[in-house]
Amino acid sequence: MIDEAIQNGGTARNYTTAKEIVRDQDGNVTGLVVEDSETSQTQTLNTRAIINATGAWAEQIHLSPQKGLHLRPLRGSHLIFPLDKIPIKEAVSFEHPEDKRPVFAIPWEGAVLFGTTDVDFDKELHQEPVITRHEADYLLAAVHARFPDLHVKKSDCIASIAGIRPVLSAHKKDPSKESREHVVWVDKGLVTITGGKLTTFRLLAWDALKAVRPFLPSFSTDGKGQPVFTPPDTSIQKPQSMPEKAFQKLWGRYGNKVKDIIAGVTKDSLDWIPNTHTCWAELPYVAKNEHIRHLSDLLLRRVRIGLILPEGGKQYLEQIQNLCTPVLDWDDERWEMEKTQYISQWQKAHGVPF
Ligand SMILES: Cc1cc2nc3c(=O)[nH]c(=O)nc-3n(C[C@H](O)[C@H](O)[C@H](O)COP(=O)(O)OP(=O)(O)OC[C@H]3O[C@@H](n4cnc5c(N)ncnc54)[C@H](O)[C@@H]3O)c2cc1C
Repeated sequence: MIDEAIQNGGTARNYTTAKEIVRDQDGNVTGLVVEDSETSQTQTLNTRAIINATGAWAEQIHLSPQKGLHLRPLRGSHLIFPLDKIPIKEAVSFEHPEDKRPVFAIPWEGAVLFGTTDVDFDKELHQEPVITRHEADYLLAAVHARFPDLHVKKSDCIASIAGIRPVLSAHKKDPSKESREHVVWVDKGLVTITGGKLTTFRLLAWDALKAVRPFLPSFSTDGKGQPVFTPPDTSIQKPQSMPEKAFQKLWGRYGNKVKDIIAGVTKDSLDWIPNTHTCWAELPYVAKNEHIRHLSDLLLRRVRIGLILPEGGKQYLEQIQNLCTPVLDWDDERWEMEKTQYISQWQKAHGVPF
């Protein structure tokens, strides 16, 4: 989606924090101060309109104008298991035996994603959310309840991943009873859209665009009903040696840019990395084209093999270095630093706390 926005004239900036809204004497928005989160370099962007879509962090930029309605950051955590330990072909959803909340197991990227929890995130919002031991035990209890014959052990778990939901609180005691509706707040050029669900992303986007329109007179929001993504180019040919399923996955992930991945690659590099649904050829393509700054961007936030392979894919780091060195401007020293930082970050945020 970001890629298509860039193709249509947008600019995307990674590692960039919106720091401060700039306003004129009447309070109208005139700009935004942004800061590189690593170098601390700041820049002021001139604009009459800002859409603040920062999820659970939205009130750091725009305090809720609705009395008594504030964001309640809720952590949701998952465990990831090898597919051969929980061999499901499709998603399974059921009630947790303890509290009757819905939980699920989904075949994902060659593994099984099992989630999720719904608990208050009581840390500072800039801290990375991490699964707790209590949450891991809660999820494993659900695995045992639904799949008693599989005898899944704690040690089978490959990794964990947690996120923070932007939930608007009506002060319910139970986090799962809070509404998942979204809100739009408008303040003289600043439009905040928060709450809601991933599944309602299009509605949220339309509501934000409608709200921002008065501040951008030349901007038209017509286009309702048009496809969200550029339609696929059906003339793209699957390489003969590539299984249909692998090709469909690449096409789904990269859209028409799949052409660039399959052009000129060797047969071996179209193989899937063992136990994942990522092929080797994706790594240098993504490293070159998807704005990665660190190894963790590549392995955890672009392709997801860092969550699917044991110990974050430690056994393949040399191979990944060899594949990506031609497209990344990193010398051996930088690679060593990136690998060390990556493993340390993985252990802190994605290890399994049993
Ligand atoms: C564990 C979990 C499970 C979920 N399951 C489902 C589900 O099954 N179905 C469903 O529909 N929804 C689900 N959701 C909810 C869904 O993920 C959220 O509703 C959705 O991600 C919200 O999108 P958003 O873009 O508003 O916020 P986010 O996805 O949170 O994105 C906000 C972004 O803003 C960035 N940011 C914050 N502050 C600043 C700043 N000052 N400057 C620049 N950037 C900033 C953040 O780093 C973040 O990348 C789930 C959420 C979680 C955490």
